[in-house]
Amino acid sequence: MDKEFAVNSDGLHQAVELMSRDFSNAQGFALPMELPLVGMGSTAALNSLAPSILGGAARLGEATSFAHMDPPTPWITWAMTLWNASLNQNLLHPATAPVARQMEQRVVAWLAPFFGMNGGHMTPGSTVANLTALWSARECAGVTEVIASEGAHLSIAKAAHILGLKYLSVPIDANGSMDSAQLPADLSKSALVLTAGATSTGAIDPLDLAGRAAWTHVDAAWAGPLRLSKYAHLLAGIESADSVAVSAHKWLFQPKESALILFRDTEKAHAAVSFGGAYLATPNVGVLGSHGATATALLATLLAWGHEGVAQRIEHCMDLARCLRDFVANDERLEIYAEPQTGMVVWRPKDDRLFDQVLQLLPVGSTSTTSIAGGRWIRNVAANPSADIDLLIATIQKAIAAC
Ligand SMILES: *Cc1c(COP(=O)(O)O)cnc(C)c1O
Repeated sequence: MDKEFAVNSDGLHQAVELMSRDFSNAQGFALPMELPLVGMGSTAALNSLAPSILGGAARLGEATSFAHMDPPTPWITWAMTLWNASLNQNLLHPATAPVARQMEQRVVAWLAPFFGMNGGHMTPGSTVANLTALWSARECAGVTEVIASEGAHLSIAKAAHILGLKYLSVPIDANGSMDSAQLPADLSKSALVLTAGATSTGAIDPLDLAGRAAWTHVDAAWAGPLRLSKYAHLLAGIESADSVAVSAHKWLFQPKESALILFRDTEKAHAAVSFGGAYLATPNVGVLGSHGATATALLATLLAWGHEGVAQRIEHCMDLARCLRDFVANDERLEIYAEPQTGMVVWRPKDDRLFDQVLQLLPVGSTSTTSIAGGRWIRNVAANPSADIDLLIATIQKAIAAC
């Protein structure tokens, strides 16, 4: 047997050991400009790449990391990712991945009821989940257009484009939510997309609109996991949707690429987006062909933490956002865009001249920026349960004081 395909305990231990080293000041590996003719060997490749890969990435779990929807991931998911890579199962073929397929079905069965859905499948992200949902909407409900708010994620317009559907953008109100007064009266040929946790602001569209159109899709990529927490009521109405997208690689702390597309009537929706083929034992459901056992990492996390453990971490993130919100609201030099709804705080210095200066003084990975209705804002996202919010606030205070 070619040893490269066998378990190399020393090599894998070395890989784990390298993870705890500090490469922050290390020189990155000078990559050859051309494909090397002769390989350097796996151990040498591991050691050469460690400073670049491990030292060259933002640390999403560090104290001031509070900028993006990308969370740190729990170690159990690293172990599952390792197993997945070694087994390389393809969920397209039940014969080669019998258990992994069942695990995906079980994870979906665990989570779908929180959203009032009865099933679905995993996708590599909500971009693909949204595309799958709108594809089902076109097939099942004969929709000819997609309606979403100005705050909707660009993947909605992208999906409409791919599917040849018209796209209508509805203005947002002062909180960043869809202004329902501006919706067209006739939604009988429309897929209405409501966002739960807008990417720029965290705003939730009025979910009581679910059920008013030929098809309602809720894009809960970011805020969906709140359904597992004491904040579930914020997404009340979601259970009347026809489909729901949730990114597990956001607020369920999963490694990329992990998300769910859930349907109220899964049998019908899946039938509409399934294709059979000569070499396939079961129909191929959805957008993907070959795909891996992403579900095992999510399943392992849910087993390890339980419903409670997931809820606690999300609720803790909500608390962190609340602390930052209170700080911004009580500092007269700062203004807040709107009351945070889903763990995102959007704010800025009142004096526009300070915007760039403040931003420059804040550590990389602590804040991001967004533009809403032509105005620039600083954006913080509570995806990191290990964030030290007092430290972050002190850092912001220092930055403002230095301007
Ligand atoms: C992140 C996001 C998406 C896209 O999801 P990916 O998992 O990045 O593909 C879609 N909609 C909203 C509201 C998002 O925040």
